[in-house]
Order: sequence, then C-alpha cells, then structure tokens
Amino acid sequence: MTDAPAARLAAFLEQLEDACQARGVTLIVVSKFHPAELVRELAAAGQRDFAESRHPESRDKAEAVADLDLTWHFVGQLQRKKARQVARYADVLHSIDSIELVEALEGGDEERPVRDALVQVNLTDDPGRGGVVPGDLDALAERVAASPALRLRGVMAVAPLGEEPGAAFERLARHAERVRAVDPAADWISAGMSADWREALEHGATHLRIGTAITGNRPAAG
Ligand SMILES: *Cc1c(COP(=O)(O)O)cnc(C)c1O
Repeated sequence: MTDAPAARLAAFLEQLEDACQARGVTLIVVSKFHPAELVRELAAAGQRDFAESRHPESRDKAEAVADLDLTWHFVGQLQRKKARQVARYADVLHSIDSIELVEALEGGDEERPVRDALVQVNLTDDPGRGGVVPGDLDALAERVAASPALRLRGVMAVAPLGEEPGAAFERLARHAERVRAVDPAADWISAGMSADWREALEHGATHLRIGTAITGNRPAAG
C-alpha cells in the first residue's frame, strides 16, 4: 500500500489538468498529521509544494525532509508569539489576518528572509473565525505590502460550512480584486480543498490546498 498516495497524486493531477484547461495552478499537498515519510514519498513522485497547519509539527516535518528543498506553506492559524518561529521555515504564510500579526513578524532582530504572504479573508458571518473581516481587508493588505518582512501575494480563504462553496468563492474573487488594487502583482488566490476545489477553480483559484484526496484520511490528531 505504500504507493497509494503517489497513485492518488497522479490521479488528482490528471483531473486537475482536465479541469483547469491549461491555466497555471499550483497544487499544494496538505500533509498535516501525516508522517514525514509521506512527504518524502510524494516528493519522489514529483510534488514540490506542501502545507502544514500547526507549529511545531510543521517545523519538525520541514526539518525532517530539509534535504529535499521543498516549498513549505503554513495554512493554519498563526499565533503572534510563534509567528517568527514559523517564518523561519515556512516559505509562504497563508494566514495573515491582523496588523498585530504583521508587527509580530517584523519584531526581533534576527536575520530572516522576506516571506510570501497571503491575507486570509473570513468568509463567514462569525468574526471569531480565522481571517480578516472583509471590511478590514484593504488596510491589512496595504500594511502587508509595506512590510519589510513580507511580500504581499494575494488572498486565502476556507469556504464556510453550510454554504454553497461557489457562492463563497465568488465573494473571495471580489476580495482578491481589492488586494490587486493595492498591488497588481498580488494575484494569488489560495482556495479549494479536497471537497470544493472545482468550485474554487471556477472562481479563479491559483493555489489549491489538497489534503485527504491525495494523502488519504488523516491519522487522529496527536
Ligand atoms: C486541512 C486543510 C486543508 C486540506 O483539507 P482536505 O479537506 O483534507 O483537502 C486545506 N486548507 C486548510 C487551511 C486546512 O487546514
């Protein structure tokens, strides 16, 4: 069974190629809760972009496969006090959702690379969920664009439960336009998971975050 994830990756890439009609889309495999061995297996099959959602699990995994020179994406909620630690190994931060978090990433005096950053937008009606509320998006995007620690790349969101994902991703596409008004080069849209990636693609997703469809079911959280 050890070749199962690689086989699922190949099958997914075939479906993706059919669905995106030659438009360039980046597939990010979400490896959270899975061992580094699974990352190694998928990397051997050609996969380069991986995502994790919890520190320090993410750090340990990135270190375990550091020899492979992969691109690591951090897609979980970023706690301010751990943010700089995450920025040491994560090439792309998908969950920038407050000005305070940007400030935390700029703090300290250690040398660090400038990280690609996406502003996470909260598409639910609950302000307690991850992501900036749409009304605060422009100010946050401008703050990220001005940050010496970050390079504004675009937006990220998770479709809310209990809503048709296409409708949510349509709103996200409009939010993405506002971010492009801040910086026309910030044209990434990170959206779409195993259950809703087709809807995300229809609404302009450039980066898909796919877990279970490729990795199989996640082991229980440790
Ligand atoms: C776990 C996770 C995913 C992948 O979810 P699947 O349903 O397994 O594809 C994508 N995005 C985020 C933010 C996640 O936490």
